[in-house]
Amino acid sequence: MRDIGVDDFTYPSVLNCLTSKKDVKIGQSVHCRVIKTGFQGYNLIGNALVDMYAKQGDLSYAFKVFNTILDRDVISWTSAVTGCAHNGSHEEALKLFCKMRNSGVEPDQVITSSILSSCAELALLEFGQQVHANFMKSGLQSSLLVDNSLVTMCANCGCLEEADRVFKSMANRNVITWTALIVGYAQNGKGKESLGLYDQMILSGIKPDFITFIGLLFACSHAGLVDQGCRYFESMINVHGIRPGPDHYACMVDLLGRAGKLLEAEKLLDEMAVEPGATVWKVFLAARRKHGNIDLAKKAASVLFKLTPKDAVPYVMLSNMYSKADKWEDAAAVRKLMKSKCISKEPGYSWLEMNGKVRRFMSEDRSHPKSDQIYLRTSEVMGLIKNAGYVPDVNFALHDINDEGKEQGLAYHSEKLAVAFGLLYVPQGAPIRIYKNLRVCGDCHAAMKLISKMFCRHIILRDSNCFHHFRDGTCSCGDYY
Ligand SMILES: [Zn+2]
Ligand SMILES: [Zn+2]
Repeated sequence: MRDIGVDDFTYPSVLNCLTSKKDVKIGQSVHCRVIKTGFQGYNLIGNALVDMYAKQGDLSYAFKVFNTILDRDVISWTSAVTGCAHNGSHEEALKLFCKMRNSGVEPDQVITSSILSSCAELALLEFGQQVHANFMKSGLQSSLLVDNSLVTMCANCGCLEEADRVFKSMANRNVITWTALIVGYAQNGKGKESLGLYDQMILSGIKPDFITFIGLLFACSHAGLVDQGCRYFESMINVHGIRPGPDHYACMVDLLGRAGKLLEAEKLLDEMAVEPGATVWKVFLAARRKHGNIDLAKKAASVLFKLTPKDAVPYVMLSNMYSKADKWEDAAAVRKLMKSKCISKEPGYSWLEMNGKVRRFMSEDRSHPKSDQIYLRTSEVMGLIKNAGYVPDVNFALHDINDEGKEQGLAYHSEKLAVAFGLLYVPQGAPIRIYKNLRVCGDCHAAMKLISKMFCRHIILRDSNCFHHFRDGTCSCGDYY
């Protein structure tokens, strides 16, 4: 076609076909031609280049092009924002969106949906709701894309009532809408509701997809519904023709492991049609840990040491397991091995969104301006629940110090600091929403239950695995975490 000549519509069409990682070289050569033929100043082409580089995973080059676009329209900003989101840089996506608003460009459906998805990832409910309210005020019609992202965001922030309200108000729904709510219910400890919703979806004539089944299997494993989970797994393959991926297997291993069916879990692992990745092995290790089978846990841990050599989780799990079985020397040996390989635990942190601000808490961190007050409140709260029967579980403090020192360390885990902050500043009657980057430890879980009862608060904690709704001394996860 070069002999015929190209125009400013040809390039975007070509660039749109080069968004995969294997297209990096050819993408660059098309970019060279754009420059050589004098088309680099065209918005349409600049936008397509930003989109192409971002989808290929090269954000720095995407921004190099983005910065050369002089008259940026909403599509230029959308390419950059969705590019950030695509690469997991959700904070950057939100910052860009604010910049766009300040530059006077109004958001459309596509960018609004993308921002709501980033808010879902970062659990920024207030911010997302504000973005959506502004979008509705702008007079633009909502779309399936926007509504689906809104349902996902609400469910992902533990706000099921709102997710349900939006879902019911929608005139059109597709498999993404249904799946968003099915997964939302599953993650928020409402397994039976999740399965009920699936039946309704089938009745309404919508076919499930790959992700719907992750939600269903997750719901079954967390609600302890072993037989039903096995039936869904089979129907996924035999009725719906969906090949299970590592996430489905991870749910199945978890389902069988939780029910103590370790041999069946191992059999499934051996028969897997795909290579079991780190996620599956981690679930397998966790199941071993729960049922105290050290030899098989050792096997799972050694596979993980090879698969994810920089990950501290298998080392910590194995070491904790040895400590629990009073095998102190073995526990120390695992920690020594971890130290010799310079592997450190990912620092745990929790965050809370209030009045448009995000407050982040780290274990034993005192950099917060109100930290004296928060620490004082934390120790008061811990004292109060201790009187009500809370016994600190020092198994969760991985330090070689005496019990009192361990207890102090435990008291200042990031989620405990966050809940103390919530008790101080979140009005009574409103839920305290806390988000955590890692899994909640058993000690914090026990403390949260008592705090919810003692202070009559609904505490919602989203950790890296699921949601915990603490109410009146119990948790929605049924203590499976
Ligand atoms: Zn903790
Ligand atoms: Zn829980």
